[in-house]
Amino acid sequence: MQPLTQQELLAWLKETDESRLQRLWAEADRVRREYVGDAVHLRGLIEISNFCVRRCVYCGLRVERSALARYRMTSDEVLASAHDAVKFGYGTVVLQAGEDPGWRAEEIADVVRRIKSATALAVTLSLGERSPDEWRLWRAAGADRYLLRFETSNRKLYDLIHPVGPNGKLSDRIAMLRELRAIGYEIGSGVMAGIPGQTYDDLAHDLETFRELDLDMIGIGPFIPHPDTPLGKVAAVAGPDQPPADELMALKMVALTRLMCPRANIPSTTALATLNLAQGRELGLQRGANIVMPNVTPLKYRALYEIYPGKACIQEDGAQCSFCLRGRLAAIGRPVGQGRGSARAVHVS
Ligand code: SAH
Repeated sequence: MQPLTQQELLAWLKETDESRLQRLWAEADRVRREYVGDAVHLRGLIEISNFCVRRCVYCGLRVERSALARYRMTSDEVLASAHDAVKFGYGTVVLQAGEDPGWRAEEIADVVRRIKSATALAVTLSLGERSPDEWRLWRAAGADRYLLRFETSNRKLYDLIHPVGPNGKLSDRIAMLRELRAIGYEIGSGVMAGIPGQTYDDLAHDLETFRELDLDMIGIGPFIPHPDTPLGKVAAVAGPDQPPADELMALKMVALTRLMCPRANIPSTTALATLNLAQGRELGLQRGANIVMPNVTPLKYRALYEIYPGKACIQEDGAQCSFCLRGRLAAIGRPVGQGRGSARAVHVS
């Protein structure tokens, strides 16, 4: 399949005509079925800590948000959540957190080893910008995948929204993704759509970057302003070049990602569900996505992992999420995937 040109991508990103958009949705759905099938793989998301040392201006976990009560799960709690994931029939757990040195590298390695020896789960880590030595340690402990969104391929915008960390260096997540792949992880990344100051050109370039990086998993969500963050206080920038931070924009990105990266695992994200509680997950799955990441974080911590306000699924526990999701999948005629749902396995088999 020929990848779309930047001109074609731009035209689709700006498309408003309903009937032409129907063609985009149908094509994304067809390509999804042809390359990754109907099965929807479920990844249990465990939000293991909301401590963070960074000051990302979009994120509600940023260190300067003193109003937020912080929590760090214990290793035993993480293990219990992983067992819940097995009970609900999920093939993968994703351990996600702010950038939290309080979870020491050895402790992470230990919890990964415990999960791998007690279950058949694939383990994905999403713990931010830790050191290559730590990434290697966790890979050796058995972690299979690493998720690190590059957020936007516009370098200037990225540096504005993602200031230097405690080491005083600007981050280069694209280089980090290459390094993670070299260490042996399957790599996942993604962006937010509708960041103030972002342009349609930037989004087209994001799509091209997904293809160049040959990502195994690509997550896209709308930017959702958090009122207690610097970017959440910026009045929405309206202009001809500014893509809106809405559901339609995020769905166009999902559909175009499927056309650019036909074999990738693409989640229908919580951010999409947050903008449209009734149907967001389903629309993502019908317009290119093939993965859902149901939350298995203990209920008492969920509301505190507040990267943006109004996050979907924070009032339910893991069992309710599993039940709700299975109903939603059945209603759109999509079977639950069995096994780990690895993108690399799709390449070889
Ligand atoms: N500390 C980890 C995990 C961050 S949370 C890391 O930096 O990789 C996971 C994702 O949530 C982020 O990569 C970002 O794309 C998304 N996110 C954060 N704040 C958001 C917001 N206000 N609106 C939409 N998505 C947001």
